[in-house]
Order: sequence, then structure tokens, then C-alpha cells
Amino acid sequence: MRSKQKKKERTIRLLYIVGLLIPMVLLVLLVWALLGDLPEGTPDYDPPPDRPAPSLALAGGDGENTPWNLVLVNSAHPLPEDWAPDLTVIDPYTGEEFDSRAIGELNAMLRDMEAQGLHPLVCSGYRSYESQVDIFQSNVEEALSQGYAQDEAEQQASLWVMPPGCSEHQSGLAADIVSQDNQCLDESQDSTPEQQWLHANCQDYGFILRYPRGKTEFTGVNYEPWHYRYVGKEAAREITAQGICLEEYG
Ligand SMILES: [Zn+2]
Repeated sequence: MRSKQKKKERTIRLLYIVGLLIPMVLLVLLVWALLGDLPEGTPDYDPPPDRPAPSLALAGGDGENTPWNLVLVNSAHPLPEDWAPDLTVIDPYTGEEFDSRAIGELNAMLRDMEAQGLHPLVCSGYRSYESQVDIFQSNVEEALSQGYAQDEAEQQASLWVMPPGCSEHQSGLAADIVSQDNQCLDESQDSTPEQQWLHANCQDYGFILRYPRGKTEFTGVNYEPWHYRYVGKEAAREITAQGICLEEYG
């Protein structure tokens, strides 16, 4: 009888211990988990990035197997700061440089224009990251002087000039081509014979009008009748025939 009583007491004690132990273990685990989530010292703060991290995107394919000529550069796809294409001077046009792999077709296009009595001028080819910093900054300052706040000024500037890293000119595959008789970068280019010839024929040399009318929602850039981008003949013809922009291609 007595040993039965003892056994019963032992069982009750054991139940007490287990009953206390489990909530205590749970409590310790809970405190531990909570402490793990708490910041140590100064809480880490990641400021929102001004623009996306540099990444290479390629239009018209799955990325890895897509050729160099289809590299997509825009405000969502900046080039790395140290992007360094092999360059050749666009001879004899103002000393501007262009990607060596595509310079032959650019020169051929310019020569054919001249042979037809036209007078094209490449006023901007390759631009380094640093020069894009200067150009963007001067546009921001102009907007600031018009009374825009810093954020708004940057937004206004980026409608006309890409922020550093986001300019296609940094790729070495973009050229601003104007008429020698009209070097204003505005819509008056539309009516020059040089621009009309380029709009009609540039795809045969592997170029597209990069920022066409009505595509600002995709490109993020206003209509620029003077900005041409080398994409290769096949892509240029497809893009032109379909009336799409590079962002929509692929
Ligand atoms: Zn341009």
C-alpha cells in the first residue's frame, strides 16, 4: 500500500515538474526569438536607392545568348560605371566615337547620305559615365533655376537627359545625328531632309530611331527625332516594321 502511495506521489511530482518545465522552455524560446528580431544598437537603415542597381538587360532574348547589339539601356537598366566598349572615331565627323563593331555600318550610312547630297552631323556618340554626370547635372541645375524642387528638377531633367549610367550613349551604340544646317536638338529636326532620310532608311544599316513618338511610356524619354541606336539589321528591320521600341522587342 505504502509503495503504491509513494509511486502516486512521485508521479504527481513528475507531472508538476513537467508541467512547469514545458511553459518555462517555451517562455525562454519566446524571449530568445523576440530578442533575435530586435535591432542591436543603432538600427540598420537602408536608404531607398535613387535608381536601380546596375544590371545588364538584353532585349530580344533570354539574356545570356542575346548578342551585344541588343543590350538594353534605360533608367531601369543602367550600365555599370566601368562599361568600356572598344571605340573608333567616327571619321571625319567631329571626333565623336562609336562601338568599333558597328562603326562600319554607321560610316556607310553617313557616306550614302552624303552621296545623295545630304549633310549629316554626328553631334554625340559615345559618352563616358563622367560626362553624363556633367550633362545631367547641368540639366538639373537649369530646372532648379526655374523654381523646381530638387526631386522635381531631377525628374524634369531625366525627361530629356538620362541619369548617369542610364544613357544609351554610354553603350557606344547610340548616335545623335542632326542636319549640318539645323543643329538644334528639338522637333524641328523632323523637317530636315537628313532626318527624313534617316527615319526612312536607318534600319537598312542596322539602326532604329530609339525614342519614337508615342513610346515615352515604355522608353521613359520624350520623342527624339535625332537619336539613333545600333541594334543590327535584322532587329532594326523587325522593330521598324512592327512600329515598336526596343523595350517592347523580344
Ligand atoms: Zn542621344
